[in-house]
Amino acid sequence: MKKFLSYFVPVVVCLAVGGLASYIQSGSIQEWYPTLERSPLTPPNIVFPIAWSVIYLLVGLSLGYLLSRGDRSLVALWMLQLFVNFMWCVLFFAFRNPMLGLLDILLLDVLVCAYIVYAYGRSRIAAWLFVPYMLWLMFATYLNGYILVHNGDGGRERCAVAATLSDNLKNNIDMTYTVPALPYEMDALSPAMSRETLEYHYGKHLRTYVDNLNRLIEGTPYKDMEIEKIICEADGAVYNNAAQTWNHIFFFDTLTPSQKPIPARLEELLKRDFGSVDEFIAKFSEKAVGLFGSGWVWLVADEGGKLSIVAEPNAGNPLRAGLRPLLTVDVWEHAYYIDYRNRRADFVKSYWNIVDWDKVDSRLG
Ligand code: MN
Repeated sequence: MKKFLSYFVPVVVCLAVGGLASYIQSGSIQEWYPTLERSPLTPPNIVFPIAWSVIYLLVGLSLGYLLSRGDRSLVALWMLQLFVNFMWCVLFFAFRNPMLGLLDILLLDVLVCAYIVYAYGRSRIAAWLFVPYMLWLMFATYLNGYILVHNGDGGRERCAVAATLSDNLKNNIDMTYTVPALPYEMDALSPAMSRETLEYHYGKHLRTYVDNLNRLIEGTPYKDMEIEKIICEADGAVYNNAAQTWNHIFFFDTLTPSQKPIPARLEELLKRDFGSVDEFIAKFSEKAVGLFGSGWVWLVADEGGKLSIVAEPNAGNPLRAGLRPLLTVDVWEHAYYIDYRNRRADFVKSYWNIVDWDKVDSRLG
């Protein structure tokens, strides 16, 4: 009976800690983890709980074996490594902080090595039962390090870099979102974009997204958040309506009836990163025309200022990837169907006649 208990207790403690850890991280694994840039060696999600279950079992058996022989010398070290193991899940998944996660897992590597070394002097079996754990930890250390290097230490925190629309979006009286006035008359963009298109697109579609957003965030923590933060953190309907609100305001704000030449600074950057302004326009148009279904095509700048084009389906917004939006085109059918019917390519072609390049340039920061 005593022998049974000496195995049973450590195994149950291990599996209970593992169960609690997987409960804590389940939300993050669904929402946050998929947004990270991960190593190509990352196994499918299903591999992790299976691997950890086997490892926790072996880790429990290792201490159980020592205890069954009346050896309690490694209990404290064993408990400490299990605690540090659990803290990794808290720091990485609950706090979503890959930097603290890496520091924790490096400490864990040291503790587990120390356990193996000490255990080896007492029982080779107890030491060998820890070896799969050690190997798996080395792999996990690499995966954590890769995520840190490729996503920064906060992942979504970078989102704040590109906060550009927060001013004047909320009504000061009840703090609900409002539809901002257009910087031009409703018929000013004609013929590229007719009054009727704006009446529907700006007057009805955008209004619906704003109304939905206000309704969805009422009484939730999103109510007091900047819209950029909502876009970075929310999922589902809240994300869709926040992003559609932001995207449309940004899009309409980038149009002008009196287009001026591209400012020299922006022209230089377009040349540097795309070869020439014409090549940029050709590539951007190709992505806009080619994007399957509904979505948005963006000109963005990364943290280092390098420009690129990203095509996002549906409500996709590049803020979520820590990129700074400079210019966008809405290729949802409602953006062009009244004026161009199904001819998206014609819409994209005339779009270039109403782009406000000064605005785009001003967003370079
Ligand atoms: Mn639209």
